Amino acid sequence: MTTPKRGTVINCIDGRVQVPVIEYLRERYGFDLVDVITEPGPDLLFSQSVDRERIGHIVETVGLSREANASRHLAIAGHHDCRANPVSDAVHRDQIRAAAAMLGQLLGDEMSVVGLWVDGDGVVSALE
Ligand SMILES: [Zn+2]
Repeated sequence: MTTPKRGTVINCIDGRVQVPVIEYLRERYGFDLVDVITEPGPDLLFSQSVDRERIGHIVETVGLSREANASRHLAIAGHHDCRANPVSDAVHRDQIRAAAAMLGQLLGDEMSVVGLWVDGDGVVSALE
């Protein structure tokens, strides 16, 4: 039996974005399984360093996914029409890039980090 290839995502709690993001990650990276950590408007949280306690708690959960499940890839997602983070699509994309950069710094070489944008049609794209 081979070990399943696993990735991790920090996604909004919004039910509209769960399946599109998981399907995108499975397709793009060939993951068998995706560990999902949800947080309302995570792009807002991780683009600022204001709520360090909450950030620390989520990063601990990412660490569990890495250590217990051998995930080496983390995605952070934001989406159109987010009720927890009601900003323009352009601001979302800037926040997602900033959030991915912050998580990349926190995680160092332990995991690769990518930012994902989900548009109003549920189409997912990576922000480089
Ligand atoms: Zn949302």
